[in-house]
Amino acid sequence: MSAPDPAPPRVLFVGGLGRSGSTLLELLLAQSADVCAVGEVVHLWERALGADERCGCGERFTACPFWRQVGDQAFGGWAAVDRDDVLALKDRVDRTRHIPRLAKDALPPEQLADVRRYADLYTRIYRAALSVTGARVVVDSSKHASLAFALRWAEGLDLRVLHLVRDSRAVAYSWGKQVRRPEVVDGEDFMPTFSPFEVSKLWTAQNAAFHLLASRAKVLRLRYEDFTANPAGTVRQVRDFAGLPDDPAALRILSGTDETAAAPEPAAPFRAHSVAGNPLRFSGGPLTVRRDEAWRDRLPRRSRAVVSLATLPLRVRYGYLGQRGSDESVERA
Ligand SMILES: [Zn+2]
Repeated sequence: MSAPDPAPPRVLFVGGLGRSGSTLLELLLAQSADVCAVGEVVHLWERALGADERCGCGERFTACPFWRQVGDQAFGGWAAVDRDDVLALKDRVDRTRHIPRLAKDALPPEQLADVRRYADLYTRIYRAALSVTGARVVVDSSKHASLAFALRWAEGLDLRVLHLVRDSRAVAYSWGKQVRRPEVVDGEDFMPTFSPFEVSKLWTAQNAAFHLLASRAKVLRLRYEDFTANPAGTVRQVRDFAGLPDDPAALRILSGTDETAAAPEPAAPFRAHSVAGNPLRFSGGPLTVRRDEAWRDRLPRRSRAVVSLATLPLRVRYGYLGQRGSDESVERA
């Protein structure tokens, strides 16, 4: 006699190109007890398992009790995971160039076995994270479209994809800045930088991929500019997409919004056990969500022209038009 199959783990996969506000949104969602945000699991194999970088809680990966429990439940301990094997598998499955193949309706047996095995690694981690925390939804902010495409082949996974978009010129400005990585314990390391043209290519490829995915999986598209204009409404909308009821607690770390005005002081945020991501995840105080518009003054004219032209078709689709951007009626921060 076998026990009935448990409900498939539900994951909210945050997709899009980095610097689109995903860490901020993840931090907000993580304030609810029914949400478990784990950072960018795609980088777990190299940065956490390999380099033992710091978790969002401040501990090194191997010293974090949450991740130790997740490893025990998912794999019988992290020592049982052959990192080199996983990285080789990742290279065969989870690359942007493999997306056309992953978008098909059927795969040859060998490729199917690879993608199923790869997706199963993540499914095990999600299931364990939910079991350890008692949450109902796990948030993976890995962002790469190729991983979202791989996960659609998972057996027994409730996949919901949040496609986060932001004006390409703001994203290009952000990727041109030097940002130190606080999770690196030994020595100093910086996040990579990309030229305006490289960002334009990545921005178009990633966003186009999520449009392709939308006909094959549950995808909700959200603009960074709409999120920052209405963080409370966005959290509500995203929770609803994830099948969760409204939870005012999700907003308690916000300062300066109407919704939190009644609270005397915003609470200190619950720091998620996020395995990789933007330095913001180490922030310890109340958050002010406002649209970062620095690019309008600081992105050089030439760069702006390159990005504006190279990303034109999707910019039009998202309403990122003109010199002032999309929402002329919204005041600049
Ligand atoms: Zn931790």
